[in-house]
Amino acid sequence: MARTYDVVVVGAGVTGAATAYFLKKAGVERVLLLDRRGVASGGTGRSAAIIRHHYSNPMLVRLTMDGVSILKSLPDETGATSGFNQTGWYFLVPEDLMAGARENVTMQQGLGVRTDFVAAADYPAWLNPDGVAGVIHEPDGGYADPVVATESLVKGFSDAGGDVRTNTSCRALLRTGERITGVLLDDGEVSAGAVVNAAGPWSHLLAASANLELPLRVVREQDTVWQARHADDMPAQSISNAVDAIYLRPLGDGRYVIGRGFPKEYVDTDPYNFKETEDDAFVSDIATRAEGRFPPFAGAKLVHGFGATYDVSPDWYPIVGAREGLQGYFDASGGSGHGFKIGFGIGRRLAGWIVDGTTEDDFRALSHDRFAAGKMFQQKYGGNRG
Ligand SMILES: Cc1cc2nc3c(=O)[nH]c(=O)nc-3n(C[C@H](O)[C@H](O)[C@H](O)COP(=O)(O)OP(=O)(O)OC[C@H]3O[C@@H](n4cnc5c(N)ncnc54)[C@H](O)[C@@H]3O)c2cc1C
Repeated sequence: MARTYDVVVVGAGVTGAATAYFLKKAGVERVLLLDRRGVASGGTGRSAAIIRHHYSNPMLVRLTMDGVSILKSLPDETGATSGFNQTGWYFLVPEDLMAGARENVTMQQGLGVRTDFVAAADYPAWLNPDGVAGVIHEPDGGYADPVVATESLVKGFSDAGGDVRTNTSCRALLRTGERITGVLLDDGEVSAGAVVNAAGPWSHLLAASANLELPLRVVREQDTVWQARHADDMPAQSISNAVDAIYLRPLGDGRYVIGRGFPKEYVDTDPYNFKETEDDAFVSDIATRAEGRFPPFAGAKLVHGFGATYDVSPDWYPIVGAREGLQGYFDASGGSGHGFKIGFGIGRRLAGWIVDGTTEDDFRALSHDRFAAGKMFQQKYGGNRG
């Protein structure tokens, strides 16, 4: 293996894989993508991977638009499917979020997103409308298979001459003064012109190895997979349900992923050692909430559940890009429970930033520098709802 690279990307989740893919597309010669386990073995592999453009901030809307376009073009570019299902997406809105939702829809329409409120007479048959103040639809949303999509990026990267090393831990970042100069692996040092820290829920620990502060909470998340008894009557779309604080997305063959959404209790956890199975109380809570909102869900059978982690930033927006006064280092983590759909666009823009040494102001706003500058993001809903 080479011991010198132009760029080393730590972490082969969607964010690192997309960054590596676009670095090669931009013509960067020597790029190494490494992961302590395997491709999509972190949060990406556990993701519900729901895709919606519905955000409060135009940059995040544009990142999703990028993501959808990249997911569509990946099969042609890499020869490997991206697992994208453009089934559409529904958002069930409670009364207290309606004013913000109206503003968001107007902003998103202005950016070219096909989205609107559904007239009450046209509510889908699977919906119990009690307590629902509004239903928003995006025909271009949906979901992807997060592992398949990330593998497609890694294939494209590797076919373009990028080096991939799995089962390879980055033990530390190498730092000389105000420059990150490479990474320390089990088999020695690798020097790099730039290092991208895309280590998800482990990225703050990696940053700390070079005395860099990265303000992330790691919290435990749970998800459940169900087999519907009345699958033909169930939704074919992904759904974010802010009325009951759950999300649902089809898996195919009458199966559905269902998890809890914001607001809920967030429990800090150790990304190296957390409970990876579901809690019984969580399962029964999900069943009650889902059955009440989607009557055809009645009688659904639990297939399995699991635990995972979110890497949550102070304002629930990702932390991406260069830092003032520090050379050779780029953050790329803090997906905060909604980072799959925007990971593709982040990778593309971050690769451009690394190559050009500059980026658009609204993308630069995602930099870690925002915390010292007191420029945290504001959003209409709170949490990972964007
Ligand atoms: C249950 C769940 C549901 C979600 N649902 C959605 C959703 O519906 N829509 C959406 O957009 N987002 C969703 N998200 C969020 C989204 O999946 C994540 O934000 C995104 O996938 C994070 O990708 P990442 O590449 O930043 O990090 P990760 O996928 O966590 O990748 C980080 C990688 O770094 C590697 N790594 C860590 N430390 C080291 C080291 N020292 N050396 C080498 N490698 C290292 C890890 O092995 C890992 O593979 C969900 C997340 C979860 C957990």
